Amino acid sequence: MPGVLTHCPYCSLQCGMTVTPRPESAGGGHDVEGADFPTNRGGLCEKGLSSTELLGHPDRLTTPLVRDSRDEPFREATWDEALDRVAAGLTAAQQRYGRDAAGLFGGGGLTNEKAYQAGKFVRVALRSAAIDYNGRFCMSSAANAGIRAFGIDRGMPFPLADIARADTVLLVGSNPADTMPPAMRWFAAGRERGAQHIVVDPRYTATAVAADVHLQPVPGTDLALANGLLHLAVKHRLVDAAYVRDRTTGWDAVRRAVRQYWPDRVERITGVPVKVMERTVRMLAASRATMILSARGAEQHAKGSDTALAWINLALALGLPGRPYSGWATVTGQGNGQGGREHGQKADQLPGYRMLADPAAREHVAGVWGLDPDELPQPGVSAYEMLDRLGTDGGVRALMVMASNVVVSAPNAAHVRRRLRDLDFLVVSDLFLSETAELADVVLPCAQWAEEEGTMTNVEGRVIRRRQAAQAPEGVRSDLAVLADVAARLGRGEFFSDDPRTVFDELRRASSGGKADYTGISYERIEAERGVFWPCPDDAHAGTPRLFRERFATPDGRARFHVVHHRAAAEEPDDEYPYRLTTGRTRAHYQSGTQTRRTKALLDAEPESVVEIHPDLAARLGLADGADLQLRTRRGSARMRARLTTTIRSDTVFAPFHWGGEQTANALTNPALDPASRMPEFKVCAVALEAVPGT
Ligand code: SF4
Repeated sequence: MPGVLTHCPYCSLQCGMTVTPRPESAGGGHDVEGADFPTNRGGLCEKGLSSTELLGHPDRLTTPLVRDSRDEPFREATWDEALDRVAAGLTAAQQRYGRDAAGLFGGGGLTNEKAYQAGKFVRVALRSAAIDYNGRFCMSSAANAGIRAFGIDRGMPFPLADIARADTVLLVGSNPADTMPPAMRWFAAGRERGAQHIVVDPRYTATAVAADVHLQPVPGTDLALANGLLHLAVKHRLVDAAYVRDRTTGWDAVRRAVRQYWPDRVERITGVPVKVMERTVRMLAASRATMILSARGAEQHAKGSDTALAWINLALALGLPGRPYSGWATVTGQGNGQGGREHGQKADQLPGYRMLADPAAREHVAGVWGLDPDELPQPGVSAYEMLDRLGTDGGVRALMVMASNVVVSAPNAAHVRRRLRDLDFLVVSDLFLSETAELADVVLPCAQWAEEEGTMTNVEGRVIRRRQAAQAPEGVRSDLAVLADVAARLGRGEFFSDDPRTVFDELRRASSGGKADYTGISYERIEAERGVFWPCPDDAHAGTPRLFRERFATPDGRARFHVVHHRAAAEEPDDEYPYRLTTGRTRAHYQSGTQTRRTKALLDAEPESVVEIHPDLAARLGLADGADLQLRTRRGSARMRARLTTTIRSDTVFAPFHWGGEQTANALTNPALDPASRMPEFKVCAVALEAVPGT
């Protein structure tokens, strides 16, 4: 069988790869190599290179599992029995507590078709408001800021390759050298042209090592830093007055607001020296083509939306968005982080990035679905709010979880685990028996990336095809089929298909006229053109690799400045919890580690969770390199091995969030929510640290 061009199961770069079956005589399995796709040009990181180990993995679930009580072990069941139980569990909760007592928690790794089907399933089959997904924990602050400032949320409004043509790039809270290494080719190509790079990160990351300037702010102070840079831009007359006049609104109020961010005050808040801020703002303003790229480090805060807006304000004042090889962008994390938030699995959203509360949106989508608009529920609550209320009065009592391992990935994870146990009924669809699946009443073994067809929308807004490159093991089913089968058992089967292409064609119609318009994007076009950028409103449209050239997606075509102010983190250090904790990803692992912790090469590279701590702080604690460290916050505790490193601030420790059990970093994190995006404050909380004696 020849190799098949498909895409990586992991991050939003969605590297092109060729998957080729090995002959049985050579031991079977599959080979993988990087394909010459526009984003990765043949490159793959360790995760992509080891991804075929997931196909035919010995831990793979291939039979539905059920049990009558949580105290019992699972037993194998037929698909009919398992799906009958799912339908009965959802129905029982709705009959007893009302429609919104049954819901679904989705994921940013689901294909566009599955994300669409999940949203439709909840609204049409369950007729419930209870749906949200783990992308709320990922992209929601940047998405909220993009909509408010530009009228549209396409995280990266230009192709990735444009990075190579930018003269100056500032990355804030983004570490692509570890999280998406093949993307570094575009940064390297820029440097060969003489481009300069600036990194804002509390850690001296691999990306910062390769940069010209590193700003190392206190976690949670990026907003003050952005306002301070804008203050300096005004002071040194670096603002692009013609651009501000012609293409924006709201500047005067922002100009007045940043007066109070005088440099030495910002230095006191952020810890970034004034002279470094001065150098940074002059570099940003001096170049012809400047990009500001933000990511989770800046956005996963209880003020994440305002922080993203502060960086957008700076970009607008310098006249960047819409200029060639310039602008503001957010670097998505999850594989379908962009598409996952466009098709209706957010609590307040319908396909096409339409809002569920908008009467015109309801009418359009209900028309595509063959319903009366009044049959659609109103918006539900966000991801953490849903998890926080599981099993309580007014909360969800029967929950389906797809493509998410919330016991590891949700903030305040120990509490979330308790809430899951309070449910009347939990069904989890996954490849493996994840920490969340271990708690379920029914576990459904699902097909994975290279075993099925579907589309993803990558970090650039390019819609691509994941093609089937391997046979799914006997006994597993696609989530598309699961949703269609459960809907049939709920008496709504005529509304659903299990065929990806049929679902995608319906998604196109549902998106028509919306912000994320896929109308002109077909499987055939994706195949022929190696992906198509949305918006693409009809078959003759070429797609839109670059946005904002002439106008923004606001009613008057102008971008909006927003007045935003620094405020303290939801939890600042005090006598009891004297240090700051920040969390993030490492090079070898991905998200909750469900896949990467089961991949030998990745586990060999990083076999356990390791907390980074500065030697000065370690000395104060009497902690040796490699010893165990107990971390404790107001929500829970975790134990990890310490790595002493001068790359982290001496008042802050960094813990990766890829592990479960006693190494669960999210047992520590703060669920304080951003009021606009409902993003939890993953990136900073107060922590107490104790060396574990004898380790
Ligand atoms: Fe996969 Fe992302 Fe690595 Fe590319 S960078 S191989 S998409 S994990």
